[in-house]
Amino acid sequence: MSPRTPLIAGNWKMHKTLAEAEALIGALLPRVSTADGVDVAICPPFLALQAMVDSTRGSRVQVYAQNMHHADHGAFTGEVSPPMLDELEVRGVILGHSERRELFGESDRELALKLPAALQAGLVPILCVGETESERDAGETERKLRRQVQEDLEGVPESRLGEVVIAYEPIWAIGTGKVAAAEQAQEAIAFVRALVADRSREQAERTRVLYGGSVKPEHAAELLALPDVDGALVGGASLDAESFASIVAAAV
Ligand code: PEP
Repeated sequence: MSPRTPLIAGNWKMHKTLAEAEALIGALLPRVSTADGVDVAICPPFLALQAMVDSTRGSRVQVYAQNMHHADHGAFTGEVSPPMLDELEVRGVILGHSERRELFGESDRELALKLPAALQAGLVPILCVGETESERDAGETERKLRRQVQEDLEGVPESRLGEVVIAYEPIWAIGTGKVAAAEQAQEAIAFVRALVADRSREQAERTRVLYGGSVKPEHAAELLALPDVDGALVGGASLDAESFASIVAAAV
């Protein structure tokens, strides 16, 4: 049996006003209250973080942010810092989501600063990595994953590597309905774990590696049963309490 507790995290992206977020969490909490042996997280927009922390207090649902700056404070208009998230009792943060990399120019160099900053502030980082369709077709998947994992984790001390969660998210599968085949997911995720093991075999056994990309209740159980898959980062299906709770149930 894996020593790692599975994590099912819902990335709400730029969805849900405060009122909508309250309605969603109200519907979700009773549906996941008995899901033992699995960590459950929601990643709402910044403006709903405080309310979601308050609404989930005492429940099994943890609250993560979707991004942060690496610095504690400074002249960075529009940004949010690690201590600001920690003060709200936010538990962790998604870093390097492909939408941030592609649409907002987030670089591996920035991520190499963000990862240790998150750990330093007591936040659990979920680092997203993954290839585009053309990179996969060109046989470049491993090269891309190697570059992202090595560069983004560069500033994380070896002794803390196991605290980082990595989400393998093939970009061609995000929001497209095209889920990776089980063998593709297992192969890429085992490769990601091997990259962590290149730095520390012991820490790689602790590192949770998630699959992300069009996860829906219908195929969650198959993906979550794969030997190296430690959970899922869920986009679209996390916006519906019933769907997200079914995916959580598939991880138990
Ligand atoms: C995501 O945004 O991380 C994601 C996996 O989205 P979806 O589940 O909608 O493909």
